[in-house]
Amino acid sequence: MIHNFNAGPSILPRQVFEQASQAIVDFNNTGLSILEIGHRTPLFQAVLDEARALIKELMHLDNDHEVLFLHGGATTQFFQVPMNLLDEDAKAAYLDCGVWGSKPIKEAALFGTVEVVASSKDKNYSYIPKHFQIPEDAAYFHYTTNNTIEGTQMHAIPDTRIPLVADMSSDILSRNMDFNRFALIYAGAQKNIGAAGVNMVVVNKNILGKVKRRMPSMMDYRKHIENGSMLNTPPVFAIYVCMLTLRWLKEQGGVTAIEKINDQKAALLYDTLDRIPLFRPTVEKADRSKMNVVFVMDNPDQEKAFLDLCKKEGMIGVKGHRSVGGFRVSLYNALPLSSVQILVEVMQHFALKHA
Ligand SMILES: *Cc1c(COP(=O)(O)O)cnc(C)c1O
Repeated sequence: MIHNFNAGPSILPRQVFEQASQAIVDFNNTGLSILEIGHRTPLFQAVLDEARALIKELMHLDNDHEVLFLHGGATTQFFQVPMNLLDEDAKAAYLDCGVWGSKPIKEAALFGTVEVVASSKDKNYSYIPKHFQIPEDAAYFHYTTNNTIEGTQMHAIPDTRIPLVADMSSDILSRNMDFNRFALIYAGAQKNIGAAGVNMVVVNKNILGKVKRRMPSMMDYRKHIENGSMLNTPPVFAIYVCMLTLRWLKEQGGVTAIEKINDQKAALLYDTLDRIPLFRPTVEKADRSKMNVVFVMDNPDQEKAFLDLCKKEGMIGVKGHRSVGGFRVSLYNALPLSSVQILVEVMQHFALKHA
């Protein structure tokens, strides 16, 4: 039995793997593989339409918000966002809360002025800055809802009247939020939505078309909206896997139901970490992520021994990111509570032996 705690690409529901495999051999009893059907056929149009409708339903989006499936991963959004929303003589506000928070700042600075409203770099991004001021004259405010590498999460939506833009790559659809408050949301699919190779973008169409800049069609959100995410050949298979995962999520009872389980998984793991002195969570309590749990041990020999034990017990992906060290355990939607229960048993067992 394997327990997959990978940070991304990461675990997806078993039924999605099985249905996706079947569709490679024979898609919907057509005698054709999903890999060989044309993207402009009614067969694929139905997949795209269902994926889009499921996103709108699961996120309770209003009619101003459009759903796009684009190429290039979240990293492309780091520059596509300012290209569409930030004029050269204008300013955008950014929050710098981690490796993934600092990269979009660098990209946005290529297009206009960037004001970093706050940063937690001084403490290796182990907390979320509080009480920062968001300038009212900025074109938008950008932040990362969940910092995948450092294991922090913003639990409330920042209070501002300017358009909100968020990178939700690693906690999209893991908890309820008022998604209509956002002008633009983007998320690489490979953490909570599906296979790598596609990027989900939700954009309020009213904020588009305001910059003076000319841009290539592939960069222009309006062109993608006009063409229904089919400006060119979309990543057909990756979108199909998203659609299957979204169907699965709806069957589970949607975001509210999965959030309950996610809360249980995170509570069980953090409680255990807080109880066992051998392990030390690296993040400030109030800012702990429910998706990526980061912790260390003070003794490097013990870290190695614990990693070896995890490996022996079939636990994949528990080694921490190189910038933080220690361990990182990802608890995405598809990870069952039982995997966390087994991890916690292994931790308790290890602590008894090494205390
Ligand atoms: C994984 C991740 C990214 C990078 O996504 P790519 O699809 O590799 O470009 C960006 N932001 C966050 C928060 C992530 O977790």
